[in-house]
Amino acid sequence: MKRNYMIPAILIILSFCFAPLVSAPAPQDLQTVIQDVNIDSLMLYVAHLSGHTTYMNNGVADTILTRYSYSPEIIKAKDYLVNRLEQCGYTVDLHEFSLTGKANPSETGEMCQGWPPINSDYHEENTGALYKTALVLDNIIAEKIGTTYPEQYYYFIAHYDSRAENHTNGMLYAPGADDNASGTATVLEAARLLAESDILYSIKFILFSGEEQGLWGSKAYAAWARDNNEDIMAVINIDMIAYNIISDNFVNCQLHAGYYNSSFELAEKMSQNIHSWSIDLGSIILTDDAASDRSDHAPFWDIGKTAVFVSEDWQWSYNPNYHTVRDEYSTLNPSYFHKNAQLCIGTLYQLATSSPQTGVRSTLKPSASFSLDEPYPNPFNPQVNISWTKTGNSRVEIRIYDILGRLIKKLESDSGESGISNTTWNGIGGDGVDAASGIYFVKATSDGYTQIKKILLNR
Ligand SMILES: [Zn+2]
Repeated sequence: MKRNYMIPAILIILSFCFAPLVSAPAPQDLQTVIQDVNIDSLMLYVAHLSGHTTYMNNGVADTILTRYSYSPEIIKAKDYLVNRLEQCGYTVDLHEFSLTGKANPSETGEMCQGWPPINSDYHEENTGALYKTALVLDNIIAEKIGTTYPEQYYYFIAHYDSRAENHTNGMLYAPGADDNASGTATVLEAARLLAESDILYSIKFILFSGEEQGLWGSKAYAAWARDNNEDIMAVINIDMIAYNIISDNFVNCQLHAGYYNSSFELAEKMSQNIHSWSIDLGSIILTDDAASDRSDHAPFWDIGKTAVFVSEDWQWSYNPNYHTVRDEYSTLNPSYFHKNAQLCIGTLYQLATSSPQTGVRSTLKPSASFSLDEPYPNPFNPQVNISWTKTGNSRVEIRIYDILGRLIKKLESDSGESGISNTTWNGIGGDGVDAASGIYFVKATSDGYTQIKKILLNR
């Protein structure tokens, strides 16, 4: 059930003082952190970032029209974010990178009106297209040091830039409330809540820009992390988590896990958190979704790090305002937003305060020695055929998981010989009970390599 959302006047007044909404608590435990995730705080950040309400900038009321990377307005957004983090007591670092070339074929990158940055120049390609080189932008980093493992980091990331339909005009209104003021607000809220808590591992709260032109900010930062041997335990990337039109009894988030075992394990951990923290939310773990690598975690996958990308459920509730001037504050679902933020922030706190045995750790991406075929029939009833092809001799284990990431059934592994192998699942769980209708995942594992397929049991 959706409800209309209004910011109480008192909160707006507080924001004009440019003070944190709620003073940073010193969380005693995980439950406190989860409960303290404040929807009014999240929505106020979104209201400011998306131009829905004004905010005070050095004593003057101001509005952020767009956070388009080629627009001067993005500097306002950057300053706003830096100020918010500094208010929580962080020393904020800016990581400069160059947005060069033309990542997206439709991206002309024309200079927007009133924006002749001295640090950029233009090239006429032989196609005649005009594009920009060497526009220098900033990633924003606030670091919280862990007391026990200060050199080992969890990254909590989101992109703060936005776009709309006409991205050749950088002064066009591009509120980007869902994409991605929602993720940016979640990073700010996590930074606020954890400002004074004791954590074992270090955390970097990172806000990237240049995402919409091809992940420029995160690519640059991942390259920096690789070159500096940064010890990254895991990355949680939050991009679009506040739009949902579906009734509350069928709301999912998507957890994009890629092909790393360790990323899948983190996604599973998050799924289990939803369950054990009684967050009224489902989750879908995706590993082979076409859009899985289209956000700022992907460069971290590419350097072999554990990373999960958290997003709203595009499959059942696609946001029709995506990349348009209509991606506005008023279209968001605060209750859904709140649950996703609780999941992300709670998981971050859990990881950063966990003993090494229960944390997750990046593992290198192994090369594939097998491929899992599409199960058939799909949807199925009563049984589904599962087959895979191997080039090596390692055993492939097949497990069935439900939508909450719980193990339903461990199927037989193969004989270990190369070639084609197959098995079936009859819709009965390991407990001997018929599984209910719904989405399940077939997970094949061998030599630390994982592939996953989604199946639908339709009784
Ligand atoms: Zn985005």
